[in-house]
Amino acid sequence: MTKTYDCIVLGVGGFGSAALAHLARRGVRALGIERFDLDHEQGSSHGETRIIRKAYFEHPDYVPLLFRAYDLWQELEQESEKELLNLCGLMIAGPPDGEAVPGAKLAAQRYGIDIEEPTLAEARARFPGFRFDDAHAVLVEPDAGFLHVEASRQAHVETALAHGATIQANEAVLEWQPTANGVQLRTNRGKYDAASLIVTAGAWAGRLLADLSIPLEVVRKPILWHGVSGNEYDVTNGAPGFYFETTAHAFYGFPSLDGKTIKACEHTGGAVVDDPSQLDREIHPSDIEPVANFIRQSMPGVQPAPARHSMCMYTHTPDHHFIVDRHPQWPQVVIGAGFSGHGFKFTSVLGEALADLAVDGKTELPIGFLSLGREALVK
Ligand SMILES: Cc1cc2nc3c(=O)[nH]c(=O)nc-3n(C[C@H](O)[C@H](O)[C@H](O)COP(=O)(O)OP(=O)(O)OC[C@H]3O[C@@H](n4cnc5c(N)ncnc54)[C@H](O)[C@@H]3O)c2cc1C
Repeated sequence: MTKTYDCIVLGVGGFGSAALAHLARRGVRALGIERFDLDHEQGSSHGETRIIRKAYFEHPDYVPLLFRAYDLWQELEQESEKELLNLCGLMIAGPPDGEAVPGAKLAAQRYGIDIEEPTLAEARARFPGFRFDDAHAVLVEPDAGFLHVEASRQAHVETALAHGATIQANEAVLEWQPTANGVQLRTNRGKYDAASLIVTAGAWAGRLLADLSIPLEVVRKPILWHGVSGNEYDVTNGAPGFYFETTAHAFYGFPSLDGKTIKACEHTGGAVVDDPSQLDREIHPSDIEPVANFIRQSMPGVQPAPARHSMCMYTHTPDHHFIVDRHPQWPQVVIGAGFSGHGFKFTSVLGEALADLAVDGKTELPIGFLSLGREALVK
């Protein structure tokens, strides 16, 4: 027999778990369907930490969403009684005319976000674990930091369940189709009807939305942890997260959480993945070399060879901005996709926007710039 819901969320990862929590809080009869276990490491929302910041260099239009995201993360912390956010600060270093430093300054000026601009001498004294290029500028955002990614996802799942949502894990959606009253989904276990559908399938979104031919590109992203000596990278010693832009690359990382290792990765690059279910999870010398070179140059107390690794995926749109919108032909289908390697911090607020779109058909949140109809996505 086909089961019926108000809304089905396809994929209970970063965004799906958040959307489900917002739906359930409003009393919507919601079902989340997830192909793996709820705490799996097969997608894009694992690996201990995610940077959160407000002085958004990718585009200032993200900033109002970030203000709401911070509030929602703090509310979720209180409701879940879990530590999700650590506002240890973020240090950005890069060319004064690059993307990160001027972009963060622009967003900070436009929205009155607190940033500090130490001279290179001041930065060298304040951050002894780092070496800075003489031609680079340094900027610090004190109210930035990181999210504990697994705990954040779990908190959304637990909130959804506590407010009455149903989640079916280890069940794969094979197809969805519009019906007279909404949508019908077929999975490897059964059929489900709902008034609306939210597609938050991460790296698998392109396949599930094949009718739209959205130009999504999935890339393979190694996550690397490196041994550290001394306490200058320690979160308990006041060390910040970091983002270094170089001429051809960008690297980022977090303070050491265990006093023994530090997570440092490359943001740029990544091999294109044809099938996310067949991701190559082995680590190769070519994965290690760019980060090892960066560490040799910029982080003298860190071992260039990684102590451990995990594998993740970015799902890029052509302009690296997200897609949060309704399906142009089937408005009962809502899409959250293409989070382009910088989405996690927004799951709290865009989960709310996805729920608004599914339930009310509109949202007050300023997401117009993330529409499916924007020029960069039109072929
Ligand atoms: C290495 C790395 C570092 C990052 N760093 C940052 C950062 O510092 N700050 C930041 O804000 N963001 C960061 N990001 C980006 C952020 O993590 C992602 O944008 C976000 O996690 C994407 O969430 P998602 O819900 O789209 O995907 P996922 O969390 O992968 O969720 C998609 C879910 O859909 C499920 N699914 C797919 N197909 C089906 C199906 N047919 N049936 C049922 N279930 C299905 C999948 O199993 C999965 O659980 C990083 C990403 C990576 C990989």
